Amino acid sequence: MKSDIFPATLQDLIEEFNKLPGIGRKTATRLAIHILKVNPEEARALAQAIIRVKENIRFCSVCYNITEEDPCPICRDPARNQRQICVVEDPTDIMMIENTHEYNGVYHVLGGTISPLDGIGPEDLRIKELMKRLDNVDEVILALNPSTEGETTSIYLSKLIKPLGIKVTRLARGIPLGSNLEFIDELTLSKALRSRQEI
Ligand SMILES: [Zn+2]
Repeated sequence: MKSDIFPATLQDLIEEFNKLPGIGRKTATRLAIHILKVNPEEARALAQAIIRVKENIRFCSVCYNITEEDPCPICRDPARNQRQICVVEDPTDIMMIENTHEYNGVYHVLGGTISPLDGIGPEDLRIKELMKRLDNVDEVILALNPSTEGETTSIYLSKLIKPLGIKVTRLARGIPLGSNLEFIDELTLSKALRSRQEI
């Protein structure tokens, strides 16, 4: 629903902000007005940051983390334990776990969880890619969100991986059910990681 109060270019900007997650119409309008007020350099810096992110960021071909260089710095780091893989849903989960400074292995980003209701099956996730990485691995840590979908996916993966003789663990309970890793504080997450349990 467009209004005629503002010039078309400003309305376009409001529309674009409104498409962003968590940005309602009111906030979108406030942001657009804010952009209108900042000096041209600041506005240009924002626009360029958006373009640069799209042009320079890609997925790591090993772990599917977002990166500017492929493989990503975590996969390339010789100090990291390549025999330990932490499986997460999204790249943002990697940042959360890195912030705990509790983990020194590598990661694998699934790109979501199994969710029949949303039509997402195992073949829609990077499970095949994970299985190909398991040759020299001692432990797979399942750090999926404690949702029904996260649980289903954890069970599915453990059934695939355990028969290979690899230890499969998951984050300890204590993370509130239905919550998202993104919103859990570092202390809780590092505790859950440290006291992870074998499935
Ligand atoms: Zn990587």
